[in-house]
Amino acid sequence: MNSQSVGNRRHHVVVIGSGFGGLFGTKHLRRADVDVTLISKTSTHLFQPLLYQVATGILSTGEIAPATRLVLRNQKNAQVLMGEVVDVDLANQTVTSRLLNMDTVTHYDSLIVATGAQQSYFGNDQFATFAPGMKTIDDALELRARILGAFEQAELAKTQEERDRLLTFVVVGAGPTGVELAGQIAELADRTLEGTFRNIDPRDARVILLEGAGAVLGPMGPKLGGKAAKRLTKMGVEIQLNAMVTDVDAYGVVVKDADGSTRRIESACKVWSAGVQASPLGKMIAERSDGTQVDRAGRVIVEPDLTVKGHPNVFVVGDLMSVPDVPGQAQGAIQGSTYAAKAIKAGLKGQKPEERKPFKYFNKGSMATISRFDAVCQIGKIEFSGFLAWLAWLGLHLYYLVGYRSRIVTVIGWFVSFLGRNRGQMAATEQWVFARLAVEAVNADDQDADQLAAALGVPRRAPKQLGGAG
Ligand SMILES: Cc1cc2nc3c(=O)[nH]c(=O)nc-3n(C[C@H](O)[C@H](O)[C@H](O)COP(=O)(O)OP(=O)(O)OC[C@H]3O[C@@H](n4cnc5c(N)ncnc54)[C@H](O)[C@@H]3O)c2cc1C
Repeated sequence: MNSQSVGNRRHHVVVIGSGFGGLFGTKHLRRADVDVTLISKTSTHLFQPLLYQVATGILSTGEIAPATRLVLRNQKNAQVLMGEVVDVDLANQTVTSRLLNMDTVTHYDSLIVATGAQQSYFGNDQFATFAPGMKTIDDALELRARILGAFEQAELAKTQEERDRLLTFVVVGAGPTGVELAGQIAELADRTLEGTFRNIDPRDARVILLEGAGAVLGPMGPKLGGKAAKRLTKMGVEIQLNAMVTDVDAYGVVVKDADGSTRRIESACKVWSAGVQASPLGKMIAERSDGTQVDRAGRVIVEPDLTVKGHPNVFVVGDLMSVPDVPGQAQGAIQGSTYAAKAIKAGLKGQKPEERKPFKYFNKGSMATISRFDAVCQIGKIEFSGFLAWLAWLGLHLYYLVGYRSRIVTVIGWFVSFLGRNRGQMAATEQWVFARLAVEAVNADDQDADQLAAALGVPRRAPKQLGGAG
């Protein structure tokens, strides 16, 4: 690794992504004798674990997604660039990022790639049109508008059949996100919206949690999974296990059960929280390295020091890295990027890449909330649930939220929602439901999209395939 200053220029670290990996890696370098450029396609540091609370009206986007630029204001060695990285040239040590039609090429001495993962529809990307995932602020706002919009339409429905469809909410995937979302939709219907409509009773809403495997919260084990399932059932959530979703359209989902039979659930509002696929940048970097591979989810099978083969100055961290026994969780990203930043600093002091100690993950446990005052929590071999677990969840999430303002406003939001019945963020607009599809249409690769973009007066993006920059 070229770890010395070049001429009178300082060692330049480029960090891609402003999630847990990108932000914590950058912050860890604040006192190092380096310049850091953080490039991200989003302008904020998104705290994904609380996205479901934005989707269900508890928190606003500001609380969970402060502007990265503001967070790093006082870190004088850091610059923030907005843009989607479309090319990484490992041979020439450059990164090309794109903001609308503007391409920017940035040279690096060391690179930390933390572009995370996106929703996976297991090869059925067409499902996304009708069942958005839960990965971005846009996803959460779209979901909020879809959830609240379904109640609004139900109030106006002409037939019972139509009303039933509109009041049926399907959450696909019973991992932490699915569990938290299902629980919150149920609480929203039962507590917040109760008594606010005249033609419907929101408490009639059905919340169905579909899981392809045989358990809720599978990775947390049968004890905690069982507790979560019991509590959800008590709240009225219908849990259907071994139920594979084979089709999704505007009006419902088709489910294949363990015995091979299929059935249809009529539902206006569907949410997909069933799988993840690593950012495509991982595959590109792996292919350009000296033999690094990706796993089935597209995550980079990194070396013990989190680098790619033949490029000890290129670190891949967070959800994009594949390291045995490291889950795709915030701690994996934080610890991975901190390790990379430390390795870069040690390099500046003369440490050779071959002298690096392998990355070691410290498992701090995992948790999921089910409802207000109820969560499940696993720390090492210790498992607990209920109010104590909920308090632990509360404290931990507050600790990791970035910024005092976010913490204070979040606590107020939680007070309003958990102690009272109201929720402070119940705004929703039609645009939030349809904007994603409109943006996709404008960026599609065809003549209609050209005309649509011209009519709207928006610049068309340059072709988006990775590696095609320049
Ligand atoms: C709904 C949800 C709930 C979760 N709950 C929990 C939880 O309770 N506990 C827990 O520990 N973990 C949880 N996780 C997982 C946790 O959020 C992730 O493991 C963590 O965010 C991974 O960090 P990362 O930095 O690798 O990626 P991310 O946080 O996803 O950040 C990726 C960054 O890269 C940027 N980016 C992507 N592609 C490009 C590109 N081509 N060019 C430039 N920038 C790019 C994105 O804009 C983003 O800023 C949850 C995740 C989700 C989605």
